Amino acid sequence: MGLAEIKARITVAETAAGRTAGTVTLIAVSKVQPLDRVIATLEQGQRIFGENYVQEAAGKWPDLRLRFPGTAVHMIGPLQTNKAKLAFDLFDAIHTLDRASLAEKLARLAQTQGHCPTLFVQVNTGAEPQKAGVLPDDADAFIADCRAKDLPVAGLMCIPPEGEDSTPHFTHLAQIAARNGLDQLSMGMSGDFEAAIAQGATHVRVGSAIFGARNYG
Ligand SMILES: *Cc1c(COP(=O)(O)O)cnc(C)c1O
Repeated sequence: MGLAEIKARITVAETAAGRTAGTVTLIAVSKVQPLDRVIATLEQGQRIFGENYVQEAAGKWPDLRLRFPGTAVHMIGPLQTNKAKLAFDLFDAIHTLDRASLAEKLARLAQTQGHCPTLFVQVNTGAEPQKAGVLPDDADAFIADCRAKDLPVAGLMCIPPEGEDSTPHFTHLAQIAARNGLDQLSMGMSGDFEAAIAQGATHVRVGSAIFGARNYG
């Protein structure tokens, strides 16, 4: 596959869902990918990328951003509270806001810096014990808590359980967003981004289908 094919498939999915072509944001997930593949994708015009590890992103993106102006990098992996400051300074968006201690830290940074990355609250729609995210039953209260701290929550993010049909999870996330007045939905990966677009995804996070399989070596 590759970037052009994924973009074409996104357009088809947007149209099939009765949505305007070009309204879904493609986040190219570049974690663990060789630098030459990332650069090739930048050279093809892609300007929004997703990373899972603060350290890896910090080593790669400051240089690439100078070479490719207008590039945005989104944090989509679990964020430790002790890396919150680094992440706050490095990323344009954080998709993994999932607990009070992190909200507290980000709120303090937003206050002192006078700006804030775009924030998504991660919801553990499958209630999987090993997975990050607030439980669906706790989502409303957590979102209210973030707003009480003046944190600008833009939307919700989920990673459905592996091996399950993703669609009910996407529908559930969309419901939680709607009842909380949130209109951004970060959902859908290489295997299910079309299903996510059908359920209202505004941001899809696609890695291996663009770059090829990740080699964690
Ligand atoms: C790695 C990752 C992706 C991309 O996964 P692919 O299956 O390679 O598209 C998307 N979202 C999150 C949160 C990830 O960690």
